[in-house]
Amino acid sequence: MTKPRRILVSSALFYANGPLHLGHILETVQTDIWVRFQKLRGHACYYVCADDTHGTPIMLKAQSEGVTPEQLIERVKIEHQRDLADMLIGMDNFGSTHSPENKALCDRMYLTQRQAGFIDRRSVRQAYDDEAKMFLPDRYVKGICPVCGTADQYGDSCENCGSTYTPADLKDPISVVSGTAPVWRESEHYFFKLSAFEQALSTWVRSGAVQESVVRKLDEWFSQGLRDWDISRDAPYFGFEIPDAPGKYFYVWFDAPIGYLASFTQLCARNGLRFDDFLKLDSSAELHHFIGKDILYFHTLFWPAVLQASAMRRPTAVHAHGFLTINGQKMSKSRGTFITARRYLDHLSPEYLRYYFAAKLGPGIDDIDMNLDEFTTRLNSDIVGKLVNIASRCAGFITKTSGGRLASSLADRELYAAFVAAGDAIAEAYDGRDTASAIRDIMALADRANQYVDLRKPWRLAKDPRSAAEVQSVCTQALNLFRVLMIYLQPVLPDMAAKARRFFQESEWSWAHTAAPLLGTAITPYEPLALRLDPKVVARLVDPEAAAPPAPAAAPGAADTATIAAATAVEGNLISIDDFLRVDLRVARVLHAELVAGADKLLKLQLDVGELGRREIFAGIRAAYDHASLAGRLIVVVANLEPRKMRFGISEGMLLAAGPGGKDIFVLSPDSGAAPGMRIK
Ligand SMILES: [Zn+2]
Repeated sequence: MTKPRRILVSSALFYANGPLHLGHILETVQTDIWVRFQKLRGHACYYVCADDTHGTPIMLKAQSEGVTPEQLIERVKIEHQRDLADMLIGMDNFGSTHSPENKALCDRMYLTQRQAGFIDRRSVRQAYDDEAKMFLPDRYVKGICPVCGTADQYGDSCENCGSTYTPADLKDPISVVSGTAPVWRESEHYFFKLSAFEQALSTWVRSGAVQESVVRKLDEWFSQGLRDWDISRDAPYFGFEIPDAPGKYFYVWFDAPIGYLASFTQLCARNGLRFDDFLKLDSSAELHHFIGKDILYFHTLFWPAVLQASAMRRPTAVHAHGFLTINGQKMSKSRGTFITARRYLDHLSPEYLRYYFAAKLGPGIDDIDMNLDEFTTRLNSDIVGKLVNIASRCAGFITKTSGGRLASSLADRELYAAFVAAGDAIAEAYDGRDTASAIRDIMALADRANQYVDLRKPWRLAKDPRSAAEVQSVCTQALNLFRVLMIYLQPVLPDMAAKARRFFQESEWSWAHTAAPLLGTAITPYEPLALRLDPKVVARLVDPEAAAPPAPAAAPGAADTATIAAATAVEGNLISIDDFLRVDLRVARVLHAELVAGADKLLKLQLDVGELGRREIFAGIRAAYDHASLAGRLIVVVANLEPRKMRFGISEGMLLAAGPGGKDIFVLSPDSGAAPGMRIK
């Protein structure tokens, strides 16, 4: 067993200015899976987070709703917590940056920094809205980026080139509050001396604390030189007043990351943990942050420097992830693809989303696309067709023919040992946040478990009472393989794993529970663990009003003509039922798939077509499918197609697939329960 680690984890804070959407959920799911995995391995891992509640937008929003900022953030916090709980995010503490704990910690850290000489006071010229009577925060001034010239950029950073600057650097600035050009006024500000940490930060980012691709991004910033950081804002502002500086407030990005730690102090008070054990300079505990790649500057430069200046340890690692796109595009309210967490939860189980994200998330910062069609097929194929299929086909026989008791020995110990041995690579993938790789490995095992069942056909054996012991033996083997898979999947599918655990009548699971099979014990009657996803329900995730096509501009007659033309085209192609029945479509199972030397588009497949025996076919799906992933899968083939002699051999049939070609080919599969050789009609 690995040495126990002590780990403190946070995902980025949620801005209390609106509802959580699937982008937030992507991040918390990634974090949650990582944390649950660490706990399953026996490590002491704590997941804390908070709402980010300060700043001018919250203040103005509360004003416009006629409530106090405190009332606004309290309401949002309740919504956020409910959404996170329903997404099965198992945070250990969810706080708020507007808490007394955070106020105390901000003051303490700031005073330590000031004492050590890292705080400067400078007079700065600042944008002031003479009409709204307020100094303008960076994001309330817009203009042309001084670095790349892109129009309509905020006053703190450019979305196009990623440069950071101050509003005074913008060309042609205007106030977002009143739409007037701001005037410039002198005001005294407090600066954090970031420049003093340039060398230390450069070393830290190369210590493995950030991903390789992030190091390259940071090097661009290092090459420009790090500028001291203005951490104060003038009243009116919703936040914490800076000690000994009436009318001056901490900038929201100063107190927000400290909010992670303030949230942790609440957990410490509740659970008897010691804050300093995790945060003191020489702490052996780990500190990990999960963030979106848009807030790298704050977390990989400001934050470690702020910690160092406060005589605290720096993060072990800051893990960045990419953005979430929906159907290949940025989430958009006008396209109806701005999917809130609540909208998703109103229609679908959180575990489908958790599984899908897990299957797509790698260790890098590439964007993650949620394609709703692929979402449906992936879930139905993996969870229903493969995973749950193992248990649903075998559990009933144990209940019916073996008195609900598992056999007392394993039929195939070698196969079980292979499932246990695969756990090392799966654990390594989870630990390295490569959940996509973990899921690939787990599903490959699910295929092997299904092959085991297919080959022994307990439903056929069960017809003969003399085979009762063999039925029990086969089903015991399969259910034990299923149990190992569910333990591996527990970080991703916590509820389903809990149900499976109760089915096996076990009180808890750790990773180590995979080592020994469950034998001779009673199981409870099986209840379905997952239901098939209906594409019609998935389609409801997209807001129908926003997504509805615009009313046709042409006269009604034009639309009618088009409809009629389409109908006629189909009519010319009509066939009789007899025509259709001439095509012998069969369910087949892929026994083995391999690459074909000299043919970069083809895969060679060995098929089991039930009563028709074995077939060998060539299929042009190599760009779309990893050959290793196909074994065990059910497909549909044209069984009475004339054999075709090819350069590489004879193809004895054709598999059915949809799509334009290349990577976009989608092989058809029947629902679970179908058996090789079944005729499709
Ligand atoms: Zn720019």
